Amino acid sequence: MADPGIPVASNGTHIICKRCNVETATQLIRSEKVCSKCFCQYVTTKAIKRMETYRMRGSHKVVARKLLLPLSFGPCSTSLLHILDGHLQGQFDRMNRAAYELFVVHVDQYVDEKDRKSSETLLEKYKTRFPRHTYISIGLEEALNLESIDWKSLNLPNLSEEDAVKPATERLQKMIGSMPSPTSRTDILTTLLNRLLVDVGKKNECEGMLFGESTTRLAEKTLTETAKGRGFSLPWQVSDGNSPYGIAFNYPLRDLLKKELVTFSSLATPSLEDLIILQESSANISTSSKDTTIDDLMAQYFESVEKDYPSIVANVMKQRIAVYVVSRLKREQMASTDGEETKTRYHGWQEQSTKIVFYVMDAPDLSTAEG
Ligand SMILES: [Zn+2]
Repeated sequence: MADPGIPVASNGTHIICKRCNVETATQLIRSEKVCSKCFCQYVTTKAIKRMETYRMRGSHKVVARKLLLPLSFGPCSTSLLHILDGHLQGQFDRMNRAAYELFVVHVDQYVDEKDRKSSETLLEKYKTRFPRHTYISIGLEEALNLESIDWKSLNLPNLSEEDAVKPATERLQKMIGSMPSPTSRTDILTTLLNRLLVDVGKKNECEGMLFGESTTRLAEKTLTETAKGRGFSLPWQVSDGNSPYGIAFNYPLRDLLKKELVTFSSLATPSLEDLIILQESSANISTSSKDTTIDDLMAQYFESVEKDYPSIVANVMKQRIAVYVVSRLKREQMASTDGEETKTRYHGWQEQSTKIVFYVMDAPDLSTAEG
């Protein structure tokens, strides 16, 4: 399906693709009008380029490197699986061997029996569609058994003696439910999810993790983490390379916008549509709800901004720019409260986030500044 607002010329004639000069242009790559085929090639090439670290070495048959791919059933991780499946197929066709193998992990965040059943059925569909890989599904409550987590540092509420002996899924629900704010709930869920993935990866001798996060998602994360005063964890949370957990983190879709990946997943053949679960767009999240988190607001903000200002989204990923934007927001907030108690409420963030676009536009001057 074509992105609205592109390609047909004002006189109704078709526009020819700027890349192949053959097909009709139906898509946009930033401002370039291209055909669907060239668009898909662009997305695929961007992702594969990021897999250079795991390229084939030498001509002898060596053991393929094992990489964990967290699969959420969303358009980004599904597109990544589709792209890498094609990449591996290409290697087998040419050389009868592959540089790496995929260990696909779905973490079930729902504790309801019915929800678990339907995600199991969906995972079966993935296995049928991409049979070359190994798949496992694991419940998020398994994270409660991790010894590698410093539970004290997470400031989790203590469970009553009665609750402490309940099944893991119930304990997880209790624990999450008793967190003081929606932001702290999102935080703890993300922490448990990532630590569980790391644990599964290490137990299964995976050398690295391939996250399906887009430029848009990484920009969101950069600003959110900086705002929460955790910019120190950004190097491994948004860039490729070693993490402190003894396993490499990689983001092969880091040069692609979320909307480009959504379009890509709708163009893939055979279709990926019966595999993907589309979350309700974060643009629909009620801004007045006290259940809205900083993460929701950032997601909502970046989804709206990537339509018109893709370069801004890419710029925020630079940590120095994120720090600049956040410190400017904080300074302004201090000044405006004029001695009153500083309030960082969730909807305050929404109002402030509209300013981010201007601050980021200002920020490129920083590239020559010291420090
Ligand atoms: Zn073309």
